[in-house]
Amino acid sequence: MPKSHPVGGRNPRGARRWSVAPATAVVVTLATAVVTSACTVGLTGAAGVDDRPRFAGREAGDRVVVATTFTILADMARRVGGDRVRVESVTTPGADVHQYEPSVDDLKRVEGADLVVSNGLGMDDWLLRFIDGTDARHVVTSEGVDPLPVRSGNYTGRPNPHAWMSPDEGTRYIRTIARALAEVDPDGSGQYLARSEDYVAELDDLASRARAAVAEVPEERRVLVTCEGAFSYLARDLGLEELYLWPVNSESQGLPRQVTALIDEVRDREIPAVFCESTVSGAAMEQVAAETGSRVAGLLYVDSLSAPSGPVPTYLDLLDHDLEIITRELTS
Ligand SMILES: [Zn+2]
Repeated sequence: MPKSHPVGGRNPRGARRWSVAPATAVVVTLATAVVTSACTVGLTGAAGVDDRPRFAGREAGDRVVVATTFTILADMARRVGGDRVRVESVTTPGADVHQYEPSVDDLKRVEGADLVVSNGLGMDDWLLRFIDGTDARHVVTSEGVDPLPVRSGNYTGRPNPHAWMSPDEGTRYIRTIARALAEVDPDGSGQYLARSEDYVAELDDLASRARAAVAEVPEERRVLVTCEGAFSYLARDLGLEELYLWPVNSESQGLPRQVTALIDEVRDREIPAVFCESTVSGAAMEQVAAETGSRVAGLLYVDSLSAPSGPVPTYLDLLDHDLEIITRELTS
């Protein structure tokens, strides 16, 4: 039985489908691969994590142990690494990765990592104090991304960290992970390259269908309203305008002035559908909908995958799920 999927999912042959049929072929420019300088660091003695050198301990044939800061990067690493890797995420499904405080159990789960994968752009810097000065390799997946700025609030002008929500930037993440794995495990480099290029092709296909679906949305309706301003890169890629309640989850969330400002905008522009995300409270957005006659049209995923049995167990599922809901609801 295919897994349940609340909106869309896959057809019986496994192809992803969209509520709006692709109308035009779209050429997607792949992000140029950027060589990331993987610095040599490792998990250290904080919170009971031992500080033995990692590379010395890994013998030929051992699986590469990869630690990631959040579930989306873990899925990417699993997909690229296949059965040559064992991947653990510090944060688990549903966690808010912004300003996370790892527990002793979180750190034990990623103990002995050969490769540490983080997002960067200020989102998961909480990891750095646990790896600084040790000798697992560390790769930052957003290296080479031209960051979009946070547009309001206390973090105005700082990089918006949610670059993975852009399929184009996601391509960069995937290739960066493949390159880092090949450095740690040169015997697997051919497999990592092949797997990453298959993965990129799927992502490319998804992005093409997303652009075609957005092309079917009336121009005046191409406005994406969410709780966190986490969709800036996706909105840029797809030609959507982005509105939000708060700019980034580390800010105060759902303040009266945030709600009031968004109510005015949604009402004035008669925006029919608004959205909120899985890792935050939707109460403030419910208020926006109630005051404006708009509707909360669905739960989007951005900072975390769902549990394996949930609607978005993988990165591709996450993008597929969000894009299908967004394009369907803005069109109807
Ligand atoms: Zn976020």
